[in-house]
Amino acid sequence: MIEEILKKAEESHELTKEEIVSLLEGAKSKKQRKRRQGDKKTRCVEEQSENYASTLLCIYASDNLSAFQPFTLSPSSHLSLLTAHCSLFISADKIRQKHVGDEVHLRGLIEFSNYCKQNCLYCGLRRDNKQLKRYRLSENEIIALAKNASELNYKTVVLQSGEDPYYTADKMKYIISEIKKFDLAVTLSIGEKTFEEYQAYRKAGADRYLIRIETTDKNLYKKLDPGMDWENRLKCLEDLRKLDYEVGTGCLVGLPGQTLESLADDILFFKKINADMIGVGPFIPHKNTPLKDTQGGTFEMALKVMAITRLLLPDINIPATTAMETLNPNGRLIALQSGANVVMPNVTQGDARKLYEIYPGKICVNDTPDKCRGCIEAKIKSINRTISKDYGFKADL
Ligand code: SAH
Ligand code: SF4
Repeated sequence: MIEEILKKAEESHELTKEEIVSLLEGAKSKKQRKRRQGDKKTRCVEEQSENYASTLLCIYASDNLSAFQPFTLSPSSHLSLLTAHCSLFISADKIRQKHVGDEVHLRGLIEFSNYCKQNCLYCGLRRDNKQLKRYRLSENEIIALAKNASELNYKTVVLQSGEDPYYTADKMKYIISEIKKFDLAVTLSIGEKTFEEYQAYRKAGADRYLIRIETTDKNLYKKLDPGMDWENRLKCLEDLRKLDYEVGTGCLVGLPGQTLESLADDILFFKKINADMIGVGPFIPHKNTPLKDTQGGTFEMALKVMAITRLLLPDINIPATTAMETLNPNGRLIALQSGANVVMPNVTQGDARKLYEIYPGKICVNDTPDKCRGCIEAKIKSINRTISKDYGFKADL
């Protein structure tokens, strides 16, 4: 059944919500699912087999790497589950290669302020987290980081921050127009703004904008994003589209109360708004937030949501997100072999790298931009992929 769904997706890039839920669930038959709800012993075995599946997945994805975890062979009764897991990722990898090729696009990430006026329950930068030491970089510091990124051969920088009113439209216009002088594409990820502000940034030269919808479950959004309005987030995406930005959105996977049906809705939403870029990340609980005791998302589920997104939106940019690497030491490489074609290495310097703590366990906090560049280049080469020398606009993929 999984094979049939994948065949349909590969041919038509269309799936129903039920079909997406089946892919997210894996190879379990209806009977198995029913048993799982009732029988503790079965549940335990199935959970174990999912661990086997993820181990196998690591090996499948890292067979070009010198170091990978030793593993135990799975019992043959679990093979169908393993195959189903892998066939989704293999299918997404095939579609990625066919539609956007083997090039990996690098975007240098500049995390320029960890001040935020919002209070999202899941995020370490939320305004009520009084434990966090706050920082903001000056306009010239941000411009210097972008210059350094261009010297390291990046063709795009992503300017990201909490929602920090210190950076007025005039300040952002100055920063963007100065950075454009380095022949860089500029992506912004600075949250909800007015149409006029988005317009001003665009006129100053901003090319792309990332704003995740986080979840399409409006009730869940209301609970997790107090003081914010889901409809306004949608309006932001529509405004950005009107202003001819390349529009990126995405979701968090593993939020408390989130269902597989709601994740399927997220994927169908990405398709409906015809997004140019989709970032999918596991939710990782942060100790200084109200969600500190929740379970968070798994690497496997985030990977599945990402892979299905590739099947339905074959020609878009999909990053192998940093949060995936936090949960799995080869997370970004596995993602690159399961549908992703973009990586966003950090080009911020000094203490800011540590202090931009949206979630715990962030990778490479003590590294430098040039070390990160060298490291990711070597990793990408190890899986026989090439690094793009281009801006990586969707239309040119
Ligand atoms: N303030 C801007 C950009 C910075 S936040 C905005 O909210 O759009 C960037 C992304 O970090 C968010 O969209 C969210 O999906 C992600 N994020 C927040 N908290 C997280 C957590 N605990 N685990 C993983 N990702 C998280
Ligand atoms: Fe602020 Fe973005 Fe974190 Fe929400 S997700 S608290 S808007 S930085």
